[in-house]
Amino acid sequence: MNLEAYKRSLAQRVSLNRQILQNKYWFLPVDNKGHEDFVPVGRGVKTSDWCGKFRGLMVCKNVDAHKGVVVNGVDCSNKVAVRLQHFWCKNSSCPVCFIRGWSVRGAKFIENRLKEGVKRGLSKIEHVIVSVSKADYDLPEYVLRKKCREFLKACGVVGGCMIFHGFRIDRERGCLKWSPHYHVLGFVLGGYDRCRHCRGGDCYACDGVLGKCYRVYRESGYIIRVLSERKTVFGTAWYQLNHATIRVGLKRFHTVTWFGVCGYNNFQRETAKIEVAVVPCPICGDEMVRCFHVGKRVIHKNIGHKNYEVWFVDDEFDEDGKPNYVEVVGGRGFGG
Ligand SMILES: [Zn+2]
Ligand SMILES: [Zn+2]
Ligand SMILES: [Zn+2]
Repeated sequence: MNLEAYKRSLAQRVSLNRQILQNKYWFLPVDNKGHEDFVPVGRGVKTSDWCGKFRGLMVCKNVDAHKGVVVNGVDCSNKVAVRLQHFWCKNSSCPVCFIRGWSVRGAKFIENRLKEGVKRGLSKIEHVIVSVSKADYDLPEYVLRKKCREFLKACGVVGGCMIFHGFRIDRERGCLKWSPHYHVLGFVLGGYDRCRHCRGGDCYACDGVLGKCYRVYRESGYIIRVLSERKTVFGTAWYQLNHATIRVGLKRFHTVTWFGVCGYNNFQRETAKIEVAVVPCPICGDEMVRCFHVGKRVIHKNIGHKNYEVWFVDDEFDEDGKPNYVEVVGGRGFGG
């Protein structure tokens, strides 16, 4: 793609969803030469007119719990929290919905399934990255996935999900370059804490996870790394999904696949259910309530607008003492 065409398409994508400016990965040009059938998520066309349409407001009026709390430098004392809701499609290539629609939904699914694994006695959920050896860069993706799965097992990663990332940022050239790897959220046999808390030693000779990773690398050139402890499964899964790579023109390409103890045969359908996401108040964590806005504030509802905010704080009452937000009857528990 030439520079002019890139600039035009970027301007268009930003006008649809300004959030893509928050992360280089979402807006840098893609150099997929030789791998033209792969693109990062969110680089396709908007699915429908409903994508990103404003759906309603969720408000937390628990002002007592907001006293003295500072979020992103904003003092929330005496303020209510207001969150905007939108309609999102389920399409991974939709530039409007891939971050807050597809990725959120997928992350919920991953979280539920892994937590089910923990309930069944599997160990702690770890975040592992397996990077393909340069010598294999041009092999078909399904072959890469299979090889990576074998190496993961050789390193004691007994099961989980694999999320495909075809690209990494090339800082010098300011683009995304082909660099296939998989992010794994899953279980390590015996856990990783032994290596995590190890004070060093001869890893090559050790039978710990790290020792196994070293040996796999020496034999194959594939790099397997277990990352530091993640904050939340949902957050990690969401981040990795909104950075994922999809294959264009293939209807049934699976960006996420499951293997080992989390494989398709080990988990029945019922564990795949997705609970309706109830997003808590960003200030106090309380449940938010569906409201009408009757105040004077201008609320930008278009996610492509430069002043758009996912959530903000506002006064509970106007200067006459009337509420700025009025609860919708039956508004409690409204998802999304
Ligand atoms: Zn969409
Ligand atoms: Zn990655
Ligand atoms: Zn609150």
